[in-house]
Amino acid sequence: MATILDIRPLDLVADFPAIPAGWAYLDTAATAQKPQVVIDAITRAYGTTYATVHRGVYQRSADMTLAYEAARQRVARFIGAKADEIVFVRGATEGINLVAHCWPDKRRVLLSQLEHHSNIVPWQLAGWQIDVCPLTPDGRIDLDAAEAILTPDHAMVAFAHVSNVLGSVLDARRAAELAHRVGAKLLLDGCQAVPRLPVDVQALDCDFYVFSGHKLYGPTGIGVLWGRGDLLDVMPPFMGGGAMIDRVTFERTTYAPPPARFEPGTPHITGALGLHAAIDYVEAIGLEAIHAHETALVKLARDRLSAINSVRLFGPEDSAGIVSFAIEGVHPHDVGTILDEGQVAIRAGHHCAQPLMDVLGVPATARASFGVYNSAADVEALARGVERVTRIFG
Ligand code: PMP
Repeated sequence: MATILDIRPLDLVADFPAIPAGWAYLDTAATAQKPQVVIDAITRAYGTTYATVHRGVYQRSADMTLAYEAARQRVARFIGAKADEIVFVRGATEGINLVAHCWPDKRRVLLSQLEHHSNIVPWQLAGWQIDVCPLTPDGRIDLDAAEAILTPDHAMVAFAHVSNVLGSVLDARRAAELAHRVGAKLLLDGCQAVPRLPVDVQALDCDFYVFSGHKLYGPTGIGVLWGRGDLLDVMPPFMGGGAMIDRVTFERTTYAPPPARFEPGTPHITGALGLHAAIDYVEAIGLEAIHAHETALVKLARDRLSAINSVRLFGPEDSAGIVSFAIEGVHPHDVGTILDEGQVAIRAGHHCAQPLMDVLGVPATARASFGVYNSAADVEALARGVERVTRIFG
């Protein structure tokens, strides 16, 4: 059994000005707190170097354009991609909507039972036929079942790389092999993966990858869609406007090549610069170190919580940074409220995964999710809070 002494802290909480002493922030899967370096990058961008990008003939704008494009290159290096395959979007939600609407061959898509609503509803809206892959008993996407379901009629497979509820990690390479075998493309929803695991889109062999900056210690309102160059090339624009065109007349418009084709309007300039700083921050710590730290916290949390009578844990033991649980006879919202009284912030609800709640047979779960600033003391605070809940309702 893991103990508090087994976990060496990363000792990074001082980097996060919005985390007061004694507050256990365990909702990083919803959004990560921001390190000072990210706040500084955004403040500098607005307060010192600000101007628009791509259009200015003056030096300040040219410099800002370089900084914006440097952020694109930084993202590309972070996930093993080429810069012109990186599309800045508002977040994972927009990235998935873009692919669902713009992929020219909208036939069948295979999703899984654990997907976030943002990897379900866009496919419905865009008119795809949806098939659903079941889960293994411990809460992973069942790739043997996926293999049996997939046919040459499937144009797309879209799976979470890491589940936002269960923390289960997909065997993405096998998913890619299964998709490609029937001629389908693989989109990975990497929202919960990029803050927790090293991600290399070439090694994963996927075709599209999306994530949100705010879960990666960066700003809200900026996210990334990566797509293979030859795939982005055949996709029409998602939205029209400035910056995405080649030539406009009232009769006919021709479009810029990707990624500009998919970035209409003035982009989230400062968001891109903040994301650049966030990637520098996490890479300086190292994704391997972050993963090891969060794995240790998950193990400690699962050990502590499973020792408490009436606690039910969801998801596999080796989940990445996320622990979902329920306390028999207590609504997860009450769990969250009582924990909050003890300075422990967790998420309680359906986590935008109502179909998964149906599969688990619960209306909601309580969820603790970890980040670089968490320590074993936060897990202890969680466990003590849960013990208090069971005393109150016991
Ligand atoms: N997919 C997963 C797995 C998520 O956890 C989330 C956010 N909870 C999203 C997609 C949507 O991300 P955003 O709201 O930042 O677009």
